[in-house]
Amino acid sequence: MSLNLVSKIEAGKKQRARVVIGVTAAVLILVLLCIIFIQLLFTKERIEIENHITEVAKQSAVAVDLLINGDFQTLNLYAHILEKEPKYLDNSLVKQGLQTAIKNTRFYSMGVAYPDGRVLIYDANKGFMPILNVKDFKYFKEGMKGHSFIDFINSDYDNDKLIVLYAVPVIKNGKVIALVTGANDAKDYTRAVDITSFNEEAVVHIIDGTGDILLRDKKGNSVYNKSVFEDVDGIKKEVKDKALKDKNTVSYWFKDKTGERKVAAYIPVGYNNWKILAILPFSAISHNTNAVLRYAVIFLLLINIVVILGIRYNVLIRRRSDNMIMDMALQDDITHSLNKTSFYIEAEKILFNKKEDDDENLAMLLMDIDNFKIINEVYDIKKGDVVLKEIADILSKNIAEKGIFARFNDDVFAILYRYNKEAEIVSLIDNITEEIVKIRLSLKVIPSFGVYLIVDKAMPINIMCDKANIAKRTIKGLVGDRFALFDESLSQALLADKEIEDEMKPALEGHQFVMYLQPKIDMKTNLPCGSEALIRWNHPQKGLVPPYKFVPLFERNGFIVEVDKFMWEEACKAIREWIDLGYEPLPVSVNISRIHFKYEDIVSTIENLVKKYNIPKKYLELELTESAFLDNEGAVNSAIIQLQELIAMDDFGIGYSSLNMLRKLPVNVLKLDRGFINEASCTERGLIVLNHITQMARDLKATVVCEGIETPEQVNMLRNAGGDIAQGFYYAKPMPLDEYNDFVYHHEGAYN
Ligand code: C2E
Ligand code: MG
Ligand code: MG
Repeated sequence: MSLNLVSKIEAGKKQRARVVIGVTAAVLILVLLCIIFIQLLFTKERIEIENHITEVAKQSAVAVDLLINGDFQTLNLYAHILEKEPKYLDNSLVKQGLQTAIKNTRFYSMGVAYPDGRVLIYDANKGFMPILNVKDFKYFKEGMKGHSFIDFINSDYDNDKLIVLYAVPVIKNGKVIALVTGANDAKDYTRAVDITSFNEEAVVHIIDGTGDILLRDKKGNSVYNKSVFEDVDGIKKEVKDKALKDKNTVSYWFKDKTGERKVAAYIPVGYNNWKILAILPFSAISHNTNAVLRYAVIFLLLINIVVILGIRYNVLIRRRSDNMIMDMALQDDITHSLNKTSFYIEAEKILFNKKEDDDENLAMLLMDIDNFKIINEVYDIKKGDVVLKEIADILSKNIAEKGIFARFNDDVFAILYRYNKEAEIVSLIDNITEEIVKIRLSLKVIPSFGVYLIVDKAMPINIMCDKANIAKRTIKGLVGDRFALFDESLSQALLADKEIEDEMKPALEGHQFVMYLQPKIDMKTNLPCGSEALIRWNHPQKGLVPPYKFVPLFERNGFIVEVDKFMWEEACKAIREWIDLGYEPLPVSVNISRIHFKYEDIVSTIENLVKKYNIPKKYLELELTESAFLDNEGAVNSAIIQLQELIAMDDFGIGYSSLNMLRKLPVNVLKLDRGFINEASCTERGLIVLNHITQMARDLKATVVCEGIETPEQVNMLRNAGGDIAQGFYYAKPMPLDEYNDFVYHHEGAYN
């Protein structure tokens, strides 16, 4: 995880916050638009309902009008006949006339009233009624004034049955000489006003000019009992007055006693200021449009809810995963202390907040554990992790509020520490060392420290760490020295590294690297039996540069991968050349840095090369240093199995777990480090070790090669110990290819 990732996450968070605000605003606008839309829909629906109910009610009014009109026309016809022929007003003729007329009209009773108040009535079912005096009756009075009359009344004859009574005057020479009357059952009108649409939920009345209800429809329901002025709808009297007086259609919305919203429409009928009053509940539309409307509303609301929930869920999930990534990015997973990324961030803050005139100073310390890999090797990774945790606890306790620390990688810890006097750093190191050394293990856990006293707080933190690291490297492995202070002379090394790094790529492309070959001599025959390919940098200014000046740096920066491939290819080319020249090639050992196992598939690279130059595999031997085995046990093991080639364990004996590795890995060649032969030539014990190591190698069926043979005594010692092959300046130094060709192929006899 890098700083870059953290800033990306932060940027992502900001971006998402902006998106959330944007989307929330969009959702709010959407909700608002939905509400407006729904409101519009409702308003439109209300208007439509109003229009519809008035339209339907108008049809009722027309039907009633037609009915009344027809009845008046009938009576007017008879009145006209009587006016022309008054003789028919005679009692017997009237009776005859009424009997005939009733058959030709829809009246169920008809009558003739005389100016003296008498009225003769013929009922279609009951025949002639007893003569009544109707002088005080309203219809008589109106009729005698010459006005036509119509009203809903309760019949005097017929058990108060509601009837519609008509009266039309017969006027002769400007004088009312009689009235022709007719009566109909109110039910006939009920049918005319009935509205069957709206699921029978509409109710229709005929009301008079004062708002009294004259007639109800078949269903008979109503908001009102007798008059529209009953206060059951919350509508003001003036509104109703106006509606009654208006010659046009009027409508209003109200809530009835149950709280249901309804619309009332008033439509003039054309007689007696009568009106049709139609009332429709809002719910009447629920079966069609209202349902659609409701679903639309629900649908829109659901969309909003889903969008809001979706955003919320997304934000939650992202936040959680961001936090997890942040934790992962900022925390060391083994010790739970800071990691490199978060250390850089925190250190940056501390450095930024430090005042120039502050008495306190800052130091950067880098600490690692000597041979920590062996702890992992001898115990296991889990135990190694426990030790790392213990170390983190010790650091945390000793540093406390005076600084911060982090685990950078493996066993490397960094500390940024506040101090007044340098002695405080020394006592910090002493205390930490004392506690770490006490960690209970059969192997001692010993830390080393590199210290860089920060002068320029603007210096990049990685450079500070590099400086502390350079200091640390100067004491690594030296018993007794537990820490070293960085001084500028050390940074010369940094500059030199930088210079090499600037030059390395052009050097490889410009063929400045060359392969040297150092012959190996068979101890039995004293003849060359192979060689080791060793790199040299033929620098245009510096001359021939030995590998120790650049190989360690290339291993650190990874460039060794390129360089090694170049060397392997050179070795293959040489072998190809020897075959082409008809020589029996001697095998060439190439060095393989442990870095390869991190970067690539070494097996296929080697196989491709061998194929490319079409050479038998047996001519190419591989030399891996012991530490390569230690770091990449699995990969090395599978490489050995897959390549089925000679694999030599180079520099055997300088590491700490050589014997342990030997136990696990089936290497065919053991290359003893120079130290063995040196020791053997100096001490008795050294000689014993050499003898036994060669014995052990023989038992393991491995060939023993000894490096660094410089003197005839050493040759003898190796021969006596049973060593198979010698490599050293005594026989030959590493040399360019053409010199090697002379040495091996153009030389007669053995080398002694
Ligand atoms: P190494 O693989 O152990 O190579 C043997 C080293 O011992 C060589 O050093 C060789 O010159 C030196 N040597 C041989 N006989 C004697 C002797 O009698 N006395 C003394 N004092 N030294 C002797 P060189 O060539 O300087 O290489 C040093 C190391 O650099 C090598 O150690 C190897 O680890 C590394 N190296 C060299 N070339 C390559 C390469 O192409 N790739 C990689 N990865 N590493 C290389
Ligand atoms: Mg070697
Ligand atoms: Mg070696």
